[in-house]
Amino acid sequence: MGPPGAGKGTQAQLLKEQLKVPHISSGDLFRYHLRERTGLGQQAASYIHQGLLVPDEITIGIILDKVLGVSTQEGFLLDGFPRTVDQAVALDNTLAERSRRLDWVVFINVDEAELLHRLGGRYTCRECQAPHTLSETQGGDGKCSNCGGELYQRDDDRPEAVEQRLQVYQTETFPLLDYYRQRGLLIEVPGIGSVEDVNHRVLSALGQLPVDVN
Ligand SMILES: [Zn+2]
Repeated sequence: MGPPGAGKGTQAQLLKEQLKVPHISSGDLFRYHLRERTGLGQQAASYIHQGLLVPDEITIGIILDKVLGVSTQEGFLLDGFPRTVDQAVALDNTLAERSRRLDWVVFINVDEAELLHRLGGRYTCRECQAPHTLSETQGGDGKCSNCGGELYQRDDDRPEAVEQRLQVYQTETFPLLDYYRQRGLLIEVPGIGSVEDVNHRVLSALGQLPVDVN
């Protein structure tokens, strides 16, 4: 778990290799079901086409379908799910029916000022659509380093929009953090520093690295 811009997807990709477990990404699964027009995909599409949020039951169905397909000998890594306490309860119940449970919930924490800086500093090239950061933009000539195209800020990446996304995230996530904290599952890892720094902290919190001597 972690706010948008915390680097969850990047860390999940590394952990998948390091822990040798399947990476179950809610975003990837949604795209798969929509593309293949599965039963669940068609139900989800009918809401998306009307501009409505996909109801919890469908989201839960899509994830649990995948989780239950993992052999009981294997672990798994969830990314992007659960997002609400209702989803977390549904997940716990389904796992308990199979005598399984979550081992840990890793929360990559990044403070709001840093997130605003990271997310609000995203620029896009008008020509090749490549993403650029504020520091690249300021360090260079304000043009795309790939093709020399003009850089602009998408509406989604403007500070007001970013602030709005962070508010939505906090409203839905704080109760979920409490839910896992009360169950003793929550591990909080600072999301600052390099990708390697954060990865090292996550592995060591999961007991996958020897504790640093000093
Ligand atoms: Zn470009």
